[in-house]
Amino acid sequence: MYASRMSNLPPYLFARIDEMKAKQQQKGVDIIDLGVGDPDLPTPPHIVASLCEAAKNPENHHYPSYSGMPAYRAAVADWYKNRFGVSLDPGKEVVALMGSKDGIAHIAEAFVNPGDYVLAPSPGYPVYRTGTLFAEGIVHEMPLTRENAFVPVLDDIPKKVIKSAKLMFINYPNNPTAAVAPGGFYREVVDFATEHNIVVVSDNAYSEIAYDGYRAPSFLETKGAMEVGIEMHSLSKTYNMTGWRIGMAVGNADILAGLGRVKTNVDSGVFNAVQQAAITALSGSQDCVRNACTIYQERRDVLIAGLRDLGFDVPSPEATFYIWLPVQDCMAFSAKLLNEAGIVATPGIGFGSSGEGYVRFAITRPVVRIQEAIERMRRLDL
Ligand SMILES: *Cc1c(COP(=O)(O)O)cnc(C)c1O
Repeated sequence: MYASRMSNLPPYLFARIDEMKAKQQQKGVDIIDLGVGDPDLPTPPHIVASLCEAAKNPENHHYPSYSGMPAYRAAVADWYKNRFGVSLDPGKEVVALMGSKDGIAHIAEAFVNPGDYVLAPSPGYPVYRTGTLFAEGIVHEMPLTRENAFVPVLDDIPKKVIKSAKLMFINYPNNPTAAVAPGGFYREVVDFATEHNIVVVSDNAYSEIAYDGYRAPSFLETKGAMEVGIEMHSLSKTYNMTGWRIGMAVGNADILAGLGRVKTNVDSGVFNAVQQAAITALSGSQDCVRNACTIYQERRDVLIAGLRDLGFDVPSPEATFYIWLPVQDCMAFSAKLLNEAGIVATPGIGFGSSGEGYVRFAITRPVVRIQEAIERMRRLDL
């Protein structure tokens, strides 16, 4: 009944974990879910109030413009200028997205012919792969390993792959490894993409979730980046707005025009009232973002200290709300955590073959629950 491309899609791991989790819940187990990367904190009230106000205005009830309200695109450009020092023309260099997943899932349709290569990090956000498969491209996994600071080694990519590579996804601060981009990496990527004529898509969803004074850069800060690439960003993680579905693609105007043409044919834009609330989020006080990071930082410290006390050798991340824990066998480890301790952690293999040997914890639960998880793990033979 289904098209053959459907059988190429990997089983969506999170759906399977949900099933396993439901089974435990039916047995009455009190589950501590450190699996899915969805903030537990609410959207800040001033942003919610802005949506409520905008929803009452009948002018906002019509089809939105495809590329986003001019005021939203201007707010995005201002935010990029203030935050990264990157200048963007809101008319041509900013496109509204229904969350960055929207842009990531559709970009390959605009640039990839059947059989072309797409370079994607492994482990990585699963949508780089699925977007490529829908465009009938071939994914070349760039392994992210601890020895290489979870950064792809561009020299390791085979010549034949480079020749027919059209797109390259990069993602720092990184999901799932929680690594940040080392100085010089973006320079290397821009030079590589310029030489080989590859479109770079930087996924910067976690730039604002950072600790100990770390400030994540934008890929577009690098000289020459605007000529070869775009950046996907989102309000989801920054303002606890995962359910709202709003983000942005910014950067090279021609690349964005390609993405925009695909989107014009498959969706009809983001609800104007949501865009209005997003303007409030981007242009208002950023105290809410700092407060969220303070909360995550305490959770990170508690989880890292607990895991180290249990004997794990795990680095403390400077950014994202993930902990990437080295283990022997990721499926066996996460099954044991779930079935014997009621703790959900994501097996690394779900993010690509190079994710084997790790599980990912999302610190999207209160400190007391993280402490409880550590206590439960102490009772297991790990
Ligand atoms: C959460 C996430 C996204 C997408 O989030 P949206 O809600 O679609 O904006 C994109 N990339 C990575 C790496 C993510 O973790």
